[in-house]
Formats: sequence, C-alpha cells, structure tokens
Amino acid sequence: MNQFIDSHIHLYDPEYDADLGEVISRAKAEGVSRCILPAIDSGTHDKMVNLAKLHPGFAFPSIGLHPTSVKSDWEKELSLVFDNIDKNKFHAIGEIGIDGYWSKEFLNEQSFVFEKQIELAVQKGLAVIIHSRDATEEVFKVLEKTGHLGLSGVFHAFSGSFETYRRLSGMGNFMFGIGGVITFKNASLAKVAAKMDLKEIILETDGPWLTPAPFRGKRNEPSYISLIAEKLAEIKGCSIEEVAATTTKNAEKLFNI
Ligand SMILES: [Zn+2]
Repeated sequence: MNQFIDSHIHLYDPEYDADLGEVISRAKAEGVSRCILPAIDSGTHDKMVNLAKLHPGFAFPSIGLHPTSVKSDWEKELSLVFDNIDKNKFHAIGEIGIDGYWSKEFLNEQSFVFEKQIELAVQKGLAVIIHSRDATEEVFKVLEKTGHLGLSGVFHAFSGSFETYRRLSGMGNFMFGIGGVITFKNASLAKVAAKMDLKEIILETDGPWLTPAPFRGKRNEPSYISLIAEKLAEIKGCSIEEVAATTTKNAEKLFNI
C-alpha cells in the first residue's frame, strides 16, 4: 500500500474532539502513517503536545505563533515560543508568516514576529511552515532579510503563480504544500502544479479546512490525502505510487521524521 504523510493537519481542533480515534484509524487505513501538527498559539499548545504524546510515531508537533494570532499580546505569545521550544521534541516552527486577509492591523508586528521565528528555526536547525495569505510582497521582504541564513521549510497551502513559485524556490531550501484546492474545479493551482518539480512538493490536508472534492464543504481529515495524491498524479502524468513515494521522502527529510 502507498504510504503518505499529511504534512499539515490540525488534529487538535475541536472539530475532531468527538471522533479523533476513528479519524486516525481511517487515516492509517488509507496509508497516512504520519502527520505534522502545525501550531497556532498558546491557546492550543498544550492540547497539541498532549495529542502528539498519545500518538507517538503518528503525530509530530510543531511550535510557533500563527500570523492571525499576532495581536496586542504578541510579545507575550512570541516569548512563549522561545520559552517552550526546548521543553519537547518539535519537528518544525510554524505556522509562521504573514496574513493580510483577515486583518491588516498588526501587519508590521506580523513581519517582526515572522522574522524572529525564522531566526529561531535556523538556530535550532528546524524547518519552518510558512503561512502566506494576501501578503506575498511582505513575505518576500522578510525572506530577503533572512534567506542567506540557510533556511528550509514549506510554503503551506501554496496557491501562488508559477512566477511566485520560481521566485520563492530561489530564496531557500523550500517545499510547497499541496492540498485539497488542487481538486477544485478550474483551480489555477493545477496548472501551476503541473510545472512544479515533484521533488519540491509535500502533501497536506490543512484539516479541518480546505476539504478536497468530492467532499468539499464537509470537514476535512487526513484520510483524504489519497484524493489529493490521485489528482496530483493525474495532473503530472505520473503514477500515484510515484507521488506517494516522492512526497513522503520529501516530508521525512524536511521534518526529520
Ligand atoms: Zn493550517
């Protein structure tokens, strides 16, 4: 059976509270044998770490302050990342980045927080999970300042143009996270992904959001990774076995799992 890694799944979200055991069983039955849990902020930190401890070898935690959680208490939230980083084994720093979609109120602070967490990732030898929404130029600005540090990471839920992909892949050792959006009708991402190198792609669900077709609109879950892989194989004209093997190897290397 094909083995997959869901490189981005919020299994600690309340949406999974009622049936987490079944969600994990279905994932394993579809070959999703490991997943990365991206962090949000202090409000979900303990729940995420505890969930990872309950499922060793399956769920691997990250640490970080999500851009949409950069608000008036950002200094306190950011210092918690620095205080907690050595208290557990973390496999990435993320989600970090810039989000100009939900609010532009703390955009400058978001850039600062992003930069500080990149520096921390480099210092700790960890990959970053980058969230970039309506903020491509702001993200470029921070990467231009920090790119020389030898950063590795993933642009999660990548949805940019081919030009953006080319520009970003030249700024560090980056992967691109492909998820359910690729299965949407008329997705421009499909045309971009067709030209991307499979060696730079990892798979993600971003559950409970961004559910792939034909389940769009319902709750997303890791077992749906195979739908994303199937679509990617179709777009790239290769076998699903090749997609599974290459993206799994990419994620293993990036997250050291
Ligand atoms: Zn996410």
